[in-house]
Amino acid sequence: MKLHAKNILLAQGWAQDQLVTIAQGKIVNIEPIGSQTSDVTKALVIPGMVNCHSHAFQRAFAGFSEQGSEQGDSFWTWRAIMYKFLAQLSAQDAQVIATQLYIEMLKMGYTRVAEFHYLHHDIDGQTYPELSTMAKAIFDASKNSGIGLTMLPVLYRHSGFGEQAPNEGQARFINDVVQFNQLVSECVELTDTYENTNVGIAPHSLRAVDKASLEKAVSHVRALDEHAPIHIHIAEQQKEVDDCLAHYQKRPVQWLLDNIELDQHWCLIHATHIDESERQGIIKQGAIAGICPTTEANLGDGIFPSTEFIAEGGTWAIGSDSHISVNPVEELRWLEYAQRLIKQQRAILATPKQPSVGRHLWQHAAKGGGQSCGLQLGEIAIGQQADLLVLDSELLSCYANSDQHLLDSLVFASQQPAIDDVMVNGQWVIERKQHKLAEQSQAQFAQLLGRLSA
Ligand code: ZN
Repeated sequence: MKLHAKNILLAQGWAQDQLVTIAQGKIVNIEPIGSQTSDVTKALVIPGMVNCHSHAFQRAFAGFSEQGSEQGDSFWTWRAIMYKFLAQLSAQDAQVIATQLYIEMLKMGYTRVAEFHYLHHDIDGQTYPELSTMAKAIFDASKNSGIGLTMLPVLYRHSGFGEQAPNEGQARFINDVVQFNQLVSECVELTDTYENTNVGIAPHSLRAVDKASLEKAVSHVRALDEHAPIHIHIAEQQKEVDDCLAHYQKRPVQWLLDNIELDQHWCLIHATHIDESERQGIIKQGAIAGICPTTEANLGDGIFPSTEFIAEGGTWAIGSDSHISVNPVEELRWLEYAQRLIKQQRAILATPKQPSVGRHLWQHAAKGGGQSCGLQLGEIAIGQQADLLVLDSELLSCYANSDQHLLDSLVFASQQPAIDDVMVNGQWVIERKQHKLAEQSQAQFAQLLGRLSA
């Protein structure tokens, strides 16, 4: 396909009247169009966003845990509601929820999702004859919706530091390492039949995984794919940091830095509570910080030190995690706003080289997101996967009058979805704001929601 982009955000900046040649899902050439012909012309093209952290099933109870109670609410009371909710979900339900969620993601500009998948067993906690039954529901949702999928099966062993026995609500998550590694291998086999998918692993957290299990899981996935992404929840809550200090006499990120060889394939989700040396350690190892601003706000987690991390050259990505918001614009907006509120300053997450906050955030989040999936995507450049967004130029003309302000207007001022078309892996999956399965998916999802109780 030859796409004529009148205005396009390339890795090095905005360019006009470019002919983008796409073959087998990849960008194979970009050059000024001159007198050449094209298959299609679009006015305003930017890279698709990567969602580095998702628990798809949580979309179905977003909004069900916003009522105060006498004993007070916290992350841990939210988690109790979430456990009660997920106990009801079948594999078919998981597929209905994920399909609806992934269509919503595409409409809002996410072209790939890293699914931190921990619902493995049936409603009674029994192992399915085929270990990957629940994972397959997610693969099917990615196929139905057209979003790219990085499947990260979660290793979950214990309910707390010191190998505490899992509680009842965790029965569907638990695998020993042998069974877990088998699940990972089954997921890798599924990538042969599901287009635009790959597999990594997600040791859930240091509280849920002991050192020996962590090492075995890492060495198994590394034997299958030396570049496989590895994601871990690391320091979301202060209680988790305190428990880690009590057990290991080290803060979680510090323990990880001292015990595991971190590299650019590791993505540390919610590295919220870190000190200066942990922050510098993540950057030195080239690992990625996976930040989920709206979920971290919603759950009362705390605020990641983005100003310092970005100023020191750290790599980061964004995720919608609990799906209280499914909108990269809102994630990026709140990433910046949290810093403005703390520092009492403005336009913080920009660099001298790239003074537009909106453009800096969008481009960096997309590129860091591609790295968090272990793939060449997130930028519009030759050799990258063709994951593109066509913006609603008519709508944005009400906000910006030049390229200089365009992504600032998108990130900070737009009040409604500003994406017309979405291309994933060289295929149009949203055209004129429509997805072909949207109505059917929404009806199935609403019916499911009516059946579930929170
Ligand atoms: Zn999470």
